[in-house]
Amino acid sequence: MNQLSCKQEIKQITIPTPFAVGDVHTYIIITDKVTLVDAGVRTMEAWEVFQNELKKHGLKVLDIDQVLITHHHPDHVGLLDYLPANIPVYGHERAHPWMTQDQRYFTTHDAFYREMFAQMGVEERFYSLLGAMDKPLRFSCQRGLTSFVKEGEKLDGLADWRIYETPGHASSHLVLFDENSGTMIGGDLILAHISPNPLVEPPYLGEKDRRKSMIDYISSIKKMLKLPIKRVLPGHGEIVQDVQQLLEERLHQQEKRAAKVEAFVKGNPATAYEICQHLFPKVFEKQLLLTLSETLGQVDYLMEKDRIEVDATSLPYRYKTKEVVS
Ligand SMILES: [Zn+2]
Repeated sequence: MNQLSCKQEIKQITIPTPFAVGDVHTYIIITDKVTLVDAGVRTMEAWEVFQNELKKHGLKVLDIDQVLITHHHPDHVGLLDYLPANIPVYGHERAHPWMTQDQRYFTTHDAFYREMFAQMGVEERFYSLLGAMDKPLRFSCQRGLTSFVKEGEKLDGLADWRIYETPGHASSHLVLFDENSGTMIGGDLILAHISPNPLVEPPYLGEKDRRKSMIDYISSIKKMLKLPIKRVLPGHGEIVQDVQQLLEERLHQQEKRAAKVEAFVKGNPATAYEICQHLFPKVFEKQLLLTLSETLGQVDYLMEKDRIEVDATSLPYRYKTKEVVS
C-alpha cells in the first residue's frame, strides 16, 4: 500500500468558467488507476482546455478510470457530459438529482424560493429573479452518479485516500484526504481567498425542510480541524498551506458576522431582507441569492444558539434578540 502511495502523482488541471468565481481546478490522481476529481463546466472552451492540459501530462480522456465529484455545482460537474459514458462517476447521493436535472426535484424549486422571498421580506422588484434561480444549470451536466459514496469510504486504487462528508457550501459536498501525505482535495470547502457561501438549497425529494447550510458548514469546518491536514488542493484559487489557521479564521469571521446581525436586531425587530441589506449594502442587489443565503445562514445559526427569536405569525418574518426576563 505504501509503495503505491509513493508512486502516486497528482496533477492540477485548471479550466475556465463563465462564472464570477473564475477558473476551476480539477485534479488527476495517478496510482494504478487514473482518478479525476471534479470536472469543469460544460462549455466547448472548457472541454478543449481540459483535453490540452491532459495531453501536457501525457494523458488522454480514455486513460481516466473513474471520476469523483466533490459537489454538484455546475463548475465541478458540467464536463462529465463530454466524458465517455462508461466511466464510473462517484459522489454524494445528494448530488444526483442536481446532476441528472431531475424534474421531480426542480418543479418544487420555484415555489420554495417564492416562499423564502416572502418570509424574508424581499422587495417585489426582485421577484422577477425567481424564474432564473436555476439558470447556471445550463453549464451543468445531465448525467448522474453511477454509485454513491459515503463518509469513511475509499475508492479503488486510492487506498490512502479517505472520503469525508463536508456539507455546507453544498449539501452534497465531500472531500478526499490522503492520510499519508496530509494532502486534501477540498472542492470548495476550504478556499484561500474567499469564504465559501453556504448556499440555500430547496428541500430534497422526500424531505420537508431545507438543510441549514451554515450550521452544516460550521460542523464541517470543525470536523476538518481534527484532521492533520498539511495542504488543501482547492477547487478555486491558490493551494492552501496554513490550513488550521485558515479554518480558525473562517470560524472567527462567521462568529463576527453573526454578532453583527445580533447587534442589528437588538431592540429592533428586522426581516431577513433588512438584515441582508445591513450586512451587504453594496452587493445585495447584484448578488441577491448569495447574500440572502449568507444572511439566512447567520439567522439559522443565531436561532440555533438561542440568541435571537423569530416572530413568524405573519409575513415577512421578523427576528429580534431574546428578551431576558429577570
Ligand atoms: Zn466551485
